[in-house]
Amino acid sequence: SHPTRSASTAASEDLFRRALAVASGGVHSPSRSYAAVGGGAPRFMVRGEGAYLFDADGHRYIDYLSGYGAIILGHAPERVVEAVRRVAPDGLLFGTPTPLEVELDERLCQVIPSVDRVRFTASGTEAVMTAIRLARAFTGKTKLVKFDGSYHGHSDPVLVSAGSGFSTLGIADSAGIPPGVMEDVISLPYNQIEPLEEVLFRQGAQVAAVLVEPVVGNFGLVPPKPGYLEALVEQAHAAGALVIFDEVITAFRFGYGAVQDRFGLRPDITVLGKIIGGGMPIGAYGARAEIMDLVAPLGPMYQDGTWAGHPLSMAAGLACLEALREEGLYARLERLGRRLAQGLRDAAGRAGVPVQVHQMGGAIALYFTGEPVDDFAGCERSDSERFARFFRAMLQRGVHLAPSKYEVWFVTAAHTEADVEQTLEAAAEAFRSLD
Ligand code: PMP
Repeated sequence: SHPTRSASTAASEDLFRRALAVASGGVHSPSRSYAAVGGGAPRFMVRGEGAYLFDADGHRYIDYLSGYGAIILGHAPERVVEAVRRVAPDGLLFGTPTPLEVELDERLCQVIPSVDRVRFTASGTEAVMTAIRLARAFTGKTKLVKFDGSYHGHSDPVLVSAGSGFSTLGIADSAGIPPGVMEDVISLPYNQIEPLEEVLFRQGAQVAAVLVEPVVGNFGLVPPKPGYLEALVEQAHAAGALVIFDEVITAFRFGYGAVQDRFGLRPDITVLGKIIGGGMPIGAYGARAEIMDLVAPLGPMYQDGTWAGHPLSMAAGLACLEALREEGLYARLERLGRRLAQGLRDAAGRAGVPVQVHQMGGAIALYFTGEPVDDFAGCERSDSERFARFFRAMLQRGVHLAPSKYEVWFVTAAHTEADVEQTLEAAAEAFRSLD
């Protein structure tokens, strides 16, 4: 039952009407709103199964939003659901250490060489917020360098020149950030070493940390230029600043472990989230022992949380990481990702629509522009209006994307070649409908 142009969305519309009266903007996360793609009711989803989502009106979609990247095995993977079922009856929360968290600690520390010790939080937002505090505690310095259009959650300092839902809605700096916080944040273009060099030369003595997504996943998907991350790490260290890699999207995405190891780099602090929770809420930060020894109760830097290391998140995360060890899984994601990316390029080409398609593993970004995209400004120059129309056309043809030109498409282990081919047929029509 694929939705057609005339298919009813009455149930979603009715839910949205109710939601608008009681939830700000009718949503609980602005990135879920259709504000940037022509407005109206977002699809209210009631069920997920493998690569598919089903909405309140009974339509099935091939899903590429994939829980904003958290759902790498697809929806409701049996092994993860089973793990949650096994743990839940024994109690949802104890507020004490549990055996499961030790297992996940061990797994992460074993797989990511730069991480000797880890701490769980309930979200990536909290983990980044704490990683910044930790870098400040370790260096005794205050300034933070980050990159335009990156998204690191919604704590105050990282909402200066942020990306994702933020850029989707055209907000430059969030309201409500104290000037004192803004003064301590320096936001620079990603993929250019000179601006960083200059800032570190002039203000390096005050810079506590350089915070970066090693492969950007929040203005589409932008890999680092060759040598860029190496130079970033070297210069930050020369200035006595720590390097924080935000691997909330990248870890366990392109291979089993953090992407830093693919580049042969060792950040001082690593932030994790999404995939490591198997679809349950999670965040984590980790570093070498010398840095993590500053965290309370060992040291003076404070972080805790009622939900930190939640038993269901631990169980789901462990089950997910176990499933990701399957032989050939990442190769399959890469193969499907390549096919989808090439198919999108071809279909756009045939329709005479200039696009750039970036792909790494199962992660894909489609930009409506003829110019290469290396940074946030490049993504900004892509055509929002075309994206909005493409998004609508895909939705009508049973393909669910994130409602923003800044978001990545995530192929999961549950997607099949047939799903990809069906997506490409929809895309061919969607591209043709743009003119
Ligand atoms: N860092 C990055 C790179 C992210 O993409 C996100 C979420 N999209 C976050 C941090 C924040 O994570 P959370 O939504 O779990 O707070």
